[in-house]
Parts: sequence; C-alpha cells; structure tokens
Amino acid sequence: MTLAELVPSLRTSLSARLEPGLWPSSAHADCAGEVTVGGVPLSHLAARHGTPCYVLDTDDVQLRCQEYRQTLPGVEIAYASKAFLSAAMIRLVEEQGLSLDVCSAGELALAIAAGFPAGRIMLHGNVKTTEDLKTALSARVGRIVLDSCDEIDQLAAMVRHRQDVLIRVTPEVDAGTHRAVATGVADQKFGFGLSDGAAVDAVRRVLEHPELRLVGLHCHLGSQISSVSPYEVAAERMVRLLGELSRQFGWHATQLNLGGGHGIRYTREDRALDLVNFANRVPEAVRAACLEQRIPRPRLTVEPGRAIVGPAAVALYRVATVKRRPGARTFVAVDGGMSDNPRPALYGARYAVRLVGRPLRALPRPMTVVGRHCESGDVLATDVPLPEDVRAGDLLAVPVAGAYQCSMASGYNLVGRPPVVGVSAGESRLLVRRETEADLFARDVTLGTGGGTHPDPQAAPAGA
Ligand SMILES: *Cc1c(COP(=O)(O)O)cnc(C)c1O
Repeated sequence: MTLAELVPSLRTSLSARLEPGLWPSSAHADCAGEVTVGGVPLSHLAARHGTPCYVLDTDDVQLRCQEYRQTLPGVEIAYASKAFLSAAMIRLVEEQGLSLDVCSAGELALAIAAGFPAGRIMLHGNVKTTEDLKTALSARVGRIVLDSCDEIDQLAAMVRHRQDVLIRVTPEVDAGTHRAVATGVADQKFGFGLSDGAAVDAVRRVLEHPELRLVGLHCHLGSQISSVSPYEVAAERMVRLLGELSRQFGWHATQLNLGGGHGIRYTREDRALDLVNFANRVPEAVRAACLEQRIPRPRLTVEPGRAIVGPAAVALYRVATVKRRPGARTFVAVDGGMSDNPRPALYGARYAVRLVGRPLRALPRPMTVVGRHCESGDVLATDVPLPEDVRAGDLLAVPVAGAYQCSMASGYNLVGRPPVVGVSAGESRLLVRRETEADLFARDVTLGTGGGTHPDPQAAPAGA
C-alpha cells in the first residue's frame, strides 16, 4: 500500500490540484483524477477521438483576445497565425476584432477561405516567394511587411493598385530568448539593420516607389519574452528612427508595429510577460519619445501568437510502455512525440505533464516522457513528476499545447498528424480531423501506378 492510499487527504490533494496558470481557464480537476476542459472530461475526448489529440478551449482563446483588447485599448492586436491556424481559429480571432498576420500564400489562402477580411491581414516573412506576393496582391491584403531590397523592387514591379507596406527593422535588442527564436538582434536573417543605415536606405527606396504607400515600421524581437524592458528599449529606438526619417524625408509613420513574442508559462518555473505592465510602460515610452522627437504619435500594433493560443490547448497522449532501468531514468513512452511537438527537440522546451482519467494512488517520481519516433532526441518532457505506478494505457495530458505544436507538426514516420478538438460549455466539436494514411499517401504520385511516371500537375509544360 502506498502512502497516498494510507492518507486519504494526501490522495485528494495529489489528485485535485491543477498547476495554477498552466491550464485553460475552464480546466477543472476532480478527486477521481479526471480533468475537464471546457466542461468535457479529457478521458472522454481521448476515447472518442483517439490519441494523440489536441484539445482547444475556444472560450479561453476568446478570453485571451478580449484581455488583449481591454488591456491595450487603442492598440491594434494582430494574431500571429503561425502559432496555430485553422478555419475555426481564424473565425474566433475575426469575431474578436483582431487583425491577422500570415507568412505564406498557404496561411493567407486559408484565412481568406475562412472568411477573414483581407484588409485586416498582414503578410510577413523574410522570404516571400513570387507566389506569396501574387496571392497577397490578388487577395488585396491590407499590408505587406517588407524585409529586403529585392522584395521592395519585386513588389513595386508587381503592384497594380497602391499597396500599403511597412518596413521591418532590426532594433538590435537582445531580449534574452533562445537563439533560434531571437529575431531582434543584429546577427540574424530578418529585416533591415538600424545601426548600419540599412533601415533608412530601405525607407528611401520605398519612398521612391509611389505605388507603395509606406505606412509604418515594424520590429519583432523574438519569442517567449517575459520582460517588458526589451520592448520599451525597442520602442524608443524605433521612435528615434522615426524622428530621423521625419527630418530626412518629411515622412511620418501612422503605424508602429512592435511585433509579438509575449512570453507564457509552460512550467511552474516560467515567468509570463506581464501584459498590464507592458500596457503601462510601452505606449507611454512611445508617447514620450514622440514628444521628444516632435513627431505625431503612430498607432501601435502588437502581434501575439503564442500568448493567444498557447495556454488554450492541452495535448493528450496514451502511455504505450514504461521502462524502468536500474541506475537510469524511468522512460514513459507515449503514442506521439516530435512529429506533433518538435519544440523540446528544437529549443529544449520544457513542459509539465499530468496523468489524467484515473485516481492517483502513488506518490510522484521524476520520469522522462518520450515519443514514439526513431530518435533518442524525441523527448516530450524530462524529469517531470508522475505517479510511481504509471503504466501502459494511462492517459497523459500536456498543458500549454496550443502554440507551435500543431502548426509545426510533421509527417515523420508517417504516423499522421493529430486532430484538433474544440471544447466549450460541455460540448466538443472536431475542428481538424486526424491525418489518415490516404492523406499521407495522396501526394506519392507513383503509388499504384506500378512505379511508372505520373504527370506532375505543378511541372512547367514541355518546352516552356
Ligand atoms: C512569430 C511572429 C510573431 C508571434 O510570435 P509569438 O511568440 O507567437 O507571439 C509575431 N510577429 C512576427 C513578425 C512573427 O514572426
């Protein structure tokens, strides 16, 4: 008999507490070990939709959108769709009055197909292919954020109607994030540099093209930033640049886009960006700097992705096996992994994991949750506490699964990407179905043709 069985109150406290701040606002745990999200028990969702599976609390997304709008009145909030995109998500964001960032023709086409107004869409990216730009122009997207001289010239040659554009500037602020997601420093691939004069040259170049209407500047410092100071510093630098541009070209920005990257908590140790503090300090820093530069105050835009959708979803996995080895870690292997969540492998991201769907009878011990893929780097969470008696068939829930998991999921090992199930007010609704083998094989054009050739629908016609 374990300690938790001997002491019923201990067992209850082990079962009932959800790590505060890591779960969707509707999440609730009972003393039988069940966790409900949006009023739906996670074990019911796993039984109905299978595992792995993403569960998205759509009310939580709405609340986060509303929190942004209320905390930052007068500031444009643009959801960065690369964090997670589906038709249902696009509609949620649309209804909440947010704008939308996209980075490719594909993201843009889905947004348009789901009914998002083109005028509220911004196209980003350090590489925009001719196809991306064509799609953006024919959809009449509101704004295109220019990232290179080649792009300025290419876009200017393509536009038929006057196009609103911004210029992406690298403010050279190190926000202390992981190298792979630090985008505001000088030594990386995005935007035009501040100190080397590239940003001023880019503005000159755009102003020489009357078919491009330069409405403002943009910067994005990186992702998972938990401190307000880097934003303040970046905002001040950007306004100083606006002052210089005003004196040099007589050009005034009506928009200043400060990017996204607002940090959230994945584990108890993490710190989130304090949005109220951000709202108190950053617009004020812009106001004061504009006064000092004697320029009109531009409207601010922020572009949260992770902070809108990250904490709104939970990933569910079924335990396939538990390996206990003397002198080694205990490995809990689940039916998903790096194909549905590459973040631990890419960034060393850390997660909390919780056993759900049955009472907790044993005390927790540190274990490593690993995936099913053929790499030892396929780890979901290292040294997380799980009950000692965890076994095959148990259900594990990983909170804060809404951002950069589904959208970064891959076809590795042809396991098929998981479904996304929306939950709200005790009801669940399939938003994106599981990827089937038919989906996976559909592009393999020589399958079923005896290995012969098959015309490539994308190929240029012969002689072209
Ligand atoms: C990725 C990205 C965002 C969103 O970043 P989060 O960390 O998800 O908030 C915003 N703006 C730009 C330009 C981006 O590339």
